Amino acid sequence: MFDPERKAESLAMDRVRRSLAEAERVVVLTGAGVSVESGVPTFRGEEGLWRSHRPEQLATPAAFARDPRLVWEWYAWRRERVGGCRPNAAHRALARWALSRPGVLIVTQNVDGLHGDAAIEAAGDRAPETAAWPIELHGSLFRVRCTGCGERRPHVAPIDTGSRASLPRCPDCGALLRPDVVWFGEPLEDRTIGRALAAARGCDACLVVGTSAIVHPAASVAVEAAHGGAVLVEVNPDPTPLSPLAGVSLRATAATAVPRLLGGPNEAGPA
Ligand code: NAD
Ligand code: ZN
Repeated sequence: MFDPERKAESLAMDRVRRSLAEAERVVVLTGAGVSVESGVPTFRGEEGLWRSHRPEQLATPAAFARDPRLVWEWYAWRRERVGGCRPNAAHRALARWALSRPGVLIVTQNVDGLHGDAAIEAAGDRAPETAAWPIELHGSLFRVRCTGCGERRPHVAPIDTGSRASLPRCPDCGALLRPDVVWFGEPLEDRTIGRALAAARGCDACLVVGTSAIVHPAASVAVEAAHGGAVLVEVNPDPTPLSPLAGVSLRATAATAVPRLLGGPNEAGPA
């Protein structure tokens, strides 16, 4: 039987698919929601609580200065959780899409490394630092930064949080290492956010997936794109402050909607 709602939905989907396919430059902005179907919780639900601490009480320079062991314990727990997660159909579709055509930039607020994992999977023997490699606005759980000399390096080894003395230290200067993530109250790195905003200002389409769009300046990436005349497409089961700016808001989850939007193999592949 003819279902007018389904018909309208499929026409909207066709329209979005076409505008994304035809856009010369596309910025993709993702947030915690893109990783939910990989098993990574957002900060907002019940699961975002850890031993009854709120992230806002742990992800701050003041919390680290007061109790670095507690903060490292939380990060060690998050690393362990995320370490067992794999990219889902949305990360994979985005990585394949970015590799298959020019002009796509993936910008993420996530620190879970799953876009990078998907880029490595999609690139095969090619260097992963290709078009599918994301700009990580808020850093990475799997990198550390020295609180003394500022040196950054990858770090995936288990963290011994048994005592303050066992916390990881800089091999160069001996100071405490901290997670290389942007904490509440800290500025984003100029070069990183600058690159994302410049791309947003010059893009024809902006695909926003799984972000509540309340953390700035990350959300400004989508706002700048819309103000510059780009078509804004949002994938989120719930409305956000960006919804009124979006040409189309798909009320669906990332792993179902993104592969359908971008096409290609395994369109409806498992998460
Ligand atoms: P957020 O928690 O504020 O918002 C998540 C959004 O995702 C919500 O709008 C929600 O409706 C939507 N969502 C939930 N399930 C979804 C699904 N299956 N598909 C699509 N969308 C879905 O996240 P945010 O906007 O990224 O901001 C939170 C901050 O916390 C960020 O700065 C980020 O660095 C950090 N964070 C990162 C991770 C991660 O790395 N995976 C996890 C938690 C928090
Ligand atoms: Zn150092």
